[in-house]
Amino acid sequence: MQLTEAQRMIYNTAKSFAEREIRPHVRERATDETFPLEIMRKLAENGLLAGPFPEEYGGAGIDNVSYVLLCEAIGGASPSVFTAALTVQLSLVGTAICNFGNDEQRRRWLPDLFSAKKVGAFALTEPNVGSDPAAMELTAQRDGDDWVLNGSKFWISNGAQADLIVVFAQTDPGSRHKGVAAFVVDGDAQGLERQDIPDKMGLTASNTAALFFDGVRVGDDRLLGAAGDGFEIAQTSLEAGRTSTAACAVGIIQSCLDACVSYAKQREQWGKPIAGHQLVQEMVADMATDCEAARLLTIQAAQTRDAGEPATKHVVMAKHFATEAAVKAARTAISLHGGVGYLREYPVEGLLRDAIGLSLYEGTTQIQKLLLGREVLGVSAF
Ligand SMILES: Cc1cc2nc3c(=O)[nH]c(=O)nc-3n(C[C@H](O)[C@H](O)[C@H](O)COP(=O)(O)OP(=O)(O)OC[C@H]3O[C@@H](n4cnc5c(N)ncnc54)[C@H](O)[C@@H]3O)c2cc1C
Repeated sequence: MQLTEAQRMIYNTAKSFAEREIRPHVRERATDETFPLEIMRKLAENGLLAGPFPEEYGGAGIDNVSYVLLCEAIGGASPSVFTAALTVQLSLVGTAICNFGNDEQRRRWLPDLFSAKKVGAFALTEPNVGSDPAAMELTAQRDGDDWVLNGSKFWISNGAQADLIVVFAQTDPGSRHKGVAAFVVDGDAQGLERQDIPDKMGLTASNTAALFFDGVRVGDDRLLGAAGDGFEIAQTSLEAGRTSTAACAVGIIQSCLDACVSYAKQREQWGKPIAGHQLVQEMVADMATDCEAARLLTIQAAQTRDAGEPATKHVVMAKHFATEAAVKAARTAISLHGGVGYLREYPVEGLLRDAIGLSLYEGTTQIQKLLLGREVLGVSAF
């Protein structure tokens, strides 16, 4: 795979940051469920939180290929940090505001997101509405010059910590995607209550919350685009998110592979390192192949986005393949480690729990396959 000097440099910088600042503390952060705000600030200080956004708004102006390499490096060390800092803060919230906000809105919010002065969240899912977001029940009704939001959101990453929340709401009940609008709501807005969702099986250092809107008032200056643009804003942002999540999954596979190679060379059975047993080699060979295949699909998706071409097909392929391959790699890595793979002291069981989360958020594997089926067949099964 041909990478430019600049792309390699971004990967190497992110990788050494991840190995120095993130990986050594993964276990204690997962146990304490510590939200990684301090790491987000350090990422910003090191120029790693500004992503593929224009420099005039505080972005780093890097290409999408560089960005997925950065996501691979950070996500491979901690999928929780990746979730909070990269896919939510940058890919979802950053994209929604940068692509659909006006100049004043971009200047008001983007520099604070890219410097970690503010934390962002992206609130699409609801208690009754997941894979079919056009059915959303949270409403935004006109009242004078304001919009009034009523309803609830569920599963919102960064939700309890966020200063800014991109909230999707239905302005015309019954109209499905046509009436969806996106608003930027302050985390401390009057009428908004937030509750942590505890006890996730993985991604424990990333916050997940339920949000309750009871007459939350926002003005037009909080509306991104026009009232009916919300569905497109969600889909465009999710496409950015899915590309980055595929990259995080590649990072997980690479971490599993590295752990397996190291363990297989030092653990001996039948008088020789287990690396010399054929079925152990098969496990490592399959993992190495999946790692490269997932990386190539992810880079292809990023290149298609960089070329400004329709990228849905490549993005959903990368997302479902890489996240499921990460689940498989982590499961295999536990087997290869034998009994110790089942201990929290070793990193691979945690990677399995995190990888499963990646296969669910930003659309489940089944939803990615339905989107891909529609691209390939030209027939929608939704
Ligand atoms: C850790 C985590 C973090 C998250 N963060 C966020 C966030 O920041 N913001 C946000 O808005 N949401 C977030 N989510 C929500 C996530 O995007 C949803 O959980 C996901 O889209 C699935 O929705 P659901 O849970 O309601 O499942 P459902 O939609 O109820 O689906 C249940 C099952 O049915 C399947 N299914 C549904 N429809 C079809 C169909 N037409 N054909 C075939 N199968 C189908 C699904 O694939 C799944 O297997 C997060 C979720 C998790 C687990």
